[in-house]
Amino acid sequence: MTNTILSSDNNLRPTRLNDYIGQRTLCKQLSISLEASRQRGEALEHILLSGPPGLGKTTLANIIANEMGVQIHTTIGPALSKQMDLMPYLMGLGPREVFFIDEIHRLSKQLEEFLYPVIEDFRVDCLIDSGPKGRKINLPIKQFTFIGATTIAGGLSAPFRNRFGLELELELYNLEDLLTILEKSADILGLLCDKEALVEIAKRSRGTPRLANRYLKQVRNYAQVHNGGRVTVDMTKESFLLCEIDELGLDKKDRKYMKALVEIFTKPAGVNAIAATIGEDASTLSEVVEPYLLQLGFVIRASRGREITDKGKIHLNKGC
Ligand code: ADP
Repeated sequence: MTNTILSSDNNLRPTRLNDYIGQRTLCKQLSISLEASRQRGEALEHILLSGPPGLGKTTLANIIANEMGVQIHTTIGPALSKQMDLMPYLMGLGPREVFFIDEIHRLSKQLEEFLYPVIEDFRVDCLIDSGPKGRKINLPIKQFTFIGATTIAGGLSAPFRNRFGLELELELYNLEDLLTILEKSADILGLLCDKEALVEIAKRSRGTPRLANRYLKQVRNYAQVHNGGRVTVDMTKESFLLCEIDELGLDKKDRKYMKALVEIFTKPAGVNAIAATIGEDASTLSEVVEPYLLQLGFVIRASRGREITDKGKIHLNKGC
């Protein structure tokens, strides 16, 4: 039942908190909690990690288990539709171990409620038989650490959210931190890279380590075919041009979104209307496209809807 993460960038994932780049305040908060629970010999408090995809939530969950010296049991919200789906995980937990649910906002209200006594009292309430003969039994489980990761913190009901001892919100990474991540990744991959090339990649990575690593590998392939493997700034720029990613990291999807705000919607528009118009998924727009455009100040998100700013229009007019 325990899943290890099988992804091609597994070897690029830091495994200890000291190697986790950026998110300094969050790391400080976490290291105090880790130290305190280690000193008490208790399970770490339950943690809710939130932030856009690719910022390092799964990486952190694994680091927490490593730092506590315990096993991690991993699953994702969409894989859990009924109580029985959760039971093997809960019954298989050892003391102080970590149970990590990614995309936790996808759990149904019933499952959220089923988890209340589990995370509060380390107890599973089960209903045996239905109808008049039905009775409830309580099964004790080991004290464990529950970690949930979500791209939308508001997607969890307030009572569920309040049951986490620590809420950690990940922010988009700054250029300097992305550059450090890229330098480490280039080192692990054994690449010959000019620093300027890594700066170019960092600039286009939308504050997101997963993108930084993906682009590094893309540029590596390009440089391998065109330049005997050496990653130079020219190779990097050519590779991004081929992928239609501009110098700020905006891609076709971003431009389509911004163009719709200029050409189709003359008034502030709701995300569902924009999504339907450009044929995109609304959650992709609000979780992937918008956070970076908002950070750049190209778009504003008010209660009336989304609007493009003058800064956004100027960038759009420059083309790719
Ligand atoms: P999320 O779960 O938030 O979608 P992940 O934890 O899967 O993101 O991170 C994506 C990739 O980015 C990881 O495989 C790792 O290589 C890299 N990464 C994320 N955060 C960091 C960090 N703080 N330092 C170094 N690499 C990181």
